[in-house]
Amino acid sequence: MARYIGPVCRLCRREGMKLFLKGERCYTEKCAIEKRNVPPGQHGRSRRAKVAGYGIQLREKQKVKRTYGVLENQFRKYFEAADRTKGITGELLLQSLERRLDNVIYRVGYATSRAQARQLVRHGHFLVNGKKADIPSYAVRQGDTIAIKAGSVDNASITHAREEVKGRGIPEWLTLDVAGTSARISSLPTREQINLPVQEQLIVELYSK
Ligand code: SF4
Repeated sequence: MARYIGPVCRLCRREGMKLFLKGERCYTEKCAIEKRNVPPGQHGRSRRAKVAGYGIQLREKQKVKRTYGVLENQFRKYFEAADRTKGITGELLLQSLERRLDNVIYRVGYATSRAQARQLVRHGHFLVNGKKADIPSYAVRQGDTIAIKAGSVDNASITHAREEVKGRGIPEWLTLDVAGTSARISSLPTREQINLPVQEQLIVELYSK
């Protein structure tokens, strides 16, 4: 599947906010947004000033898509499913993205970024309810248990990530076991529990035109 492989900090600068795409670096002063928060390209500054209406809606969509590393077709499917479900479409959209297995692995601290989580999932390092799960888009459910496979507990990337994220905390809807090698989905995330500063209603408006 085609995927963006260019410099990811450029994407954050384009959106004018941290999308947390680069692991530990995002939490340091080396972050490009900390150093120089202007859009990329020669005319970056002037471009941001002109954004309005449709442009703002589009930017909100891009922020979410890029944060979760989802492509347009897949993103639209998430939207359509959310739209068919009873409830607030924007919130359901974000909830379905949060429920992706790669996101849960990242949120629980077994990877420093969602991109790394995606790769670790594909390599089969995790179990869901005791069964191998190697599909990053797998949607976790309330009550599911996500665990590091026994043979992968000492995996260098996972160990490094667990060390890095210590003290940062994990979302309330996830519960880590004492050893820290598995986590339970204690509830599905509410909008307040999803730490993402976007106006999801604008995405709904964009797709509803
Ligand atoms: Fe974005 Fe992280 Fe790069 Fe900062 S370091 S610009 S948050 S990807």
